[in-house]
Amino acid sequence: MGRTKTAHDKGEPAVFPAPGHDHDRCSSDAMAVAEARCSERGQRLTSIRRDVLGALLANHQPLGAYEIMERVARAGPRPAPITVYRALEFLRENGLVHRIESRNAFVACVHSHADGDLVVFLICERCGTVGEASSSEVASTVKSAAAAVGFTPKSPVIEVTGICTHCGKG
Ligand SMILES: [Zn+2]
Ligand SMILES: [Zn+2]
Ligand SMILES: [Zn+2]
Repeated sequence: MGRTKTAHDKGEPAVFPAPGHDHDRCSSDAMAVAEARCSERGQRLTSIRRDVLGALLANHQPLGAYEIMERVARAGPRPAPITVYRALEFLRENGLVHRIESRNAFVACVHSHADGDLVVFLICERCGTVGEASSSEVASTVKSAAAAVGFTPKSPVIEVTGICTHCGKG
Protein backbone atom coordinates (compact mmCIF):
# COMPACT_ATOMS: atom_id res chain seq x y z
CA MET A 1 0.00 0.00 0.00
CA GLY A 2 1.52 3.29 -1.08
CA ARG A 3 1.02 6.19 1.22
CA THR A 4 -0.47 9.16 -0.58
CA LYS A 5 1.45 12.32 0.12
CA THR A 6 -0.42 15.49 0.73
CA ALA A 7 0.84 19.04 0.59
CA HIS A 8 -1.37 20.31 3.36
CA ASP A 9 0.71 18.89 6.19
CA LYS A 10 1.79 21.76 8.38
CA GLY A 11 5.10 23.21 7.33
CA GLU A 12 5.12 21.44 3.97
CA PRO A 13 6.60 23.93 1.51
CA ALA A 14 4.66 24.90 -1.61
CA VAL A 15 5.70 22.94 -4.69
CA PHE A 16 6.19 26.21 -6.54
CA PRO A 17 6.78 28.92 -3.94
CA ALA A 18 5.49 32.34 -4.96
CA PRO A 19 8.02 34.91 -6.17
CA GLY A 20 9.03 37.07 -3.21
CA HIS A 21 8.24 34.37 -0.65
CA ASP A 22 10.30 34.20 2.53
CA HIS A 23 13.12 32.20 1.03
CA ASP A 24 15.42 32.64 4.02
CA ARG A 25 12.91 30.57 5.90
CA CYS A 26 12.76 27.98 3.11
CA SER A 27 16.49 27.50 3.15
CA SER A 28 16.92 27.51 6.92
CA ASP A 29 14.05 25.02 7.27
CA ALA A 30 15.67 22.81 4.64
CA MET A 31 19.02 23.00 6.39
CA ALA A 32 17.32 21.99 9.65
CA VAL A 33 15.70 19.02 7.88
CA ALA A 34 19.11 18.00 6.54
CA GLU A 35 20.73 18.24 9.96
CA ALA A 36 17.95 16.21 11.56
CA ARG A 37 18.16 13.54 8.88
CA CYS A 38 21.92 13.25 9.18
CA SER A 39 21.87 12.88 12.94
CA GLU A 40 19.01 10.36 12.67
CA ARG A 41 21.21 8.29 10.40
CA GLY A 42 24.35 8.78 12.41
CA GLN A 43 25.88 10.78 9.55
CA ARG A 44 27.78 14.00 9.79
CA LEU A 45 26.84 17.10 7.84
CA THR A 46 30.44 18.25 7.46
CA SER A 47 31.18 21.82 6.45
CA ILE A 48 31.71 20.99 2.74
CA ARG A 49 28.45 19.01 2.69
CA ARG A 50 26.73 21.92 4.36
CA ASP A 51 28.29 24.41 1.92
CA VAL A 52 27.23 22.38 -1.10
CA LEU A 53 23.70 22.02 0.22
CA GLY A 54 23.69 25.73 1.09
CA ALA A 55 24.63 26.60 -2.50
CA LEU A 56 21.70 24.51 -3.75
CA LEU A 57 19.38 26.12 -1.23
CA ALA A 58 20.17 29.62 -2.48
CA ASN A 59 17.09 29.38 -4.70
CA HIS A 60 14.75 26.81 -6.22
CA GLN A 61 16.64 26.36 -9.46
CA PRO A 62 18.93 23.40 -10.09
CA LEU A 63 22.68 24.00 -10.28
CA GLY A 64 25.38 22.17 -12.17
CA ALA A 65 28.41 20.87 -10.27
CA TYR A 66 30.59 23.73 -11.53
CA GLU A 67 28.06 26.36 -10.54
CA ILE A 68 27.99 24.80 -7.07
CA MET A 69 31.78 25.01 -6.95
CA GLU A 70 31.68 28.68 -7.93
CA ARG A 71 29.18 29.48 -5.22
CA VAL A 72 31.07 27.61 -2.53
CA ALA A 73 34.26 29.40 -3.63
CA ARG A 74 32.60 32.80 -3.11
CA ALA A 75 32.38 32.19 0.62
CA GLY A 76 35.75 30.54 1.18
CA PRO A 77 38.58 28.62 -0.44
CA ARG A 78 37.81 26.98 -3.78
CA PRO A 79 36.95 23.32 -3.19
CA ALA A 80 38.48 20.63 -5.40
CA PRO A 81 35.95 19.20 -7.88
CA ILE A 82 36.24 15.75 -6.32
CA THR A 83 35.34 17.18 -2.92
CA VAL A 84 32.19 18.72 -4.35
CA TYR A 85 31.26 15.51 -6.18
CA ARG A 86 31.75 13.49 -3.01
CA ALA A 87 29.60 15.89 -1.03
CA LEU A 88 26.91 15.68 -3.72
CA GLU A 89 27.09 11.90 -3.64
CA PHE A 90 26.64 11.95 0.14
CA LEU A 91 23.68 14.32 -0.12
CA ARG A 92 22.08 12.17 -2.82
CA GLU A 93 22.54 8.98 -0.85
CA ASN A 94 20.85 10.61 2.10
CA GLY A 95 17.95 11.87 0.03
CA LEU A 96 18.82 15.54 0.45
CA VAL A 97 19.65 16.23 -3.18
CA HIS A 98 18.30 14.97 -6.50
CA ARG A 99 20.03 14.92 -9.83
CA ILE A 100 18.01 16.35 -12.69
CA GLU A 101 19.30 14.24 -15.56
CA SER A 102 17.96 16.37 -18.39
CA ARG A 103 19.75 19.45 -16.99
CA ASN A 104 22.82 17.64 -15.69
CA ALA A 105 22.17 19.55 -12.50
CA PHE A 106 21.27 19.06 -8.86
CA VAL A 107 18.45 20.31 -6.71
CA ALA A 108 17.92 20.18 -2.95
CA CYS A 109 15.06 18.04 -1.64
CA VAL A 110 13.21 18.45 1.65
CA HIS A 111 10.83 15.53 1.16
CA SER A 112 11.31 12.07 2.48
CA HIS A 113 10.83 9.56 -0.29
CA ALA A 114 10.06 5.95 0.44
CA ASP A 115 12.16 3.33 -1.30
CA GLY A 116 10.93 2.77 -4.84
CA ASP A 117 8.94 5.99 -4.74
CA LEU A 118 8.59 7.54 -8.13
CA VAL A 119 9.56 11.19 -8.17
CA VAL A 120 8.10 13.46 -10.82
CA PHE A 121 10.21 16.56 -11.40
CA LEU A 122 8.27 19.49 -12.78
CA ILE A 123 10.72 21.83 -14.45
CA CYS A 124 9.55 25.35 -15.32
CA GLU A 125 10.96 26.46 -18.66
CA ARG A 126 10.60 30.15 -17.78
CA CYS A 127 11.99 30.57 -14.25
CA GLY A 128 13.87 27.29 -14.05
CA THR A 129 12.23 26.33 -10.77
CA VAL A 130 12.00 22.60 -10.14
CA GLY A 131 9.01 21.32 -8.20
CA GLU A 132 8.41 17.75 -7.11
CA ALA A 133 5.29 15.71 -7.27
CA SER A 134 5.10 12.15 -6.12
CA SER A 135 2.34 9.82 -7.16
CA SER A 136 1.90 6.22 -6.14
CA GLU A 137 -0.50 5.72 -9.07
CA VAL A 138 2.11 6.79 -11.60
CA ALA A 139 4.63 4.62 -9.78
CA SER A 140 2.53 1.49 -10.06
CA THR A 141 1.67 2.22 -13.70
CA VAL A 142 5.35 2.54 -14.54
CA LYS A 143 6.15 -0.59 -12.56
CA SER A 144 3.56 -2.71 -14.34
CA ALA A 145 4.54 -1.32 -17.75
CA ALA A 146 8.14 -2.27 -16.98
CA ALA A 147 7.18 -5.67 -15.55
CA ALA A 148 5.17 -6.43 -18.72
CA VAL A 149 8.43 -6.44 -20.68
CA GLY A 150 10.43 -8.13 -17.93
CA PHE A 151 12.22 -4.97 -16.85
CA THR A 152 13.04 -4.15 -13.23
CA PRO A 153 13.05 -0.40 -12.64
CA LYS A 154 15.64 0.79 -10.14
CA SER A 155 15.17 4.49 -9.59
CA PRO A 156 12.13 5.59 -11.50
CA VAL A 157 12.18 9.32 -12.18
CA ILE A 158 10.07 11.33 -14.55
CA GLU A 159 11.08 14.79 -15.68
CA VAL A 160 8.33 17.01 -17.02
CA THR A 161 9.06 20.42 -18.50
CA GLY A 162 6.42 23.12 -18.68
CA ILE A 163 5.29 26.37 -17.11
CA CYS A 164 4.86 26.79 -13.35
CA THR A 165 1.82 28.29 -11.72
CA HIS A 166 3.49 31.72 -11.23
CA CYS A 167 4.99 32.03 -14.70
CA GLY A 168 1.68 30.95 -16.24
CA LYS A 169 -0.15 33.95 -14.81
CA GLY A 170 -0.62 36.91 -17.11
ZN1 LIG B 1 12.12 29.37 -1.20
ZN1 LIG C 1 12.66 14.81 -3.44
ZN1 LIG D 1 8.16 29.39 -13.46
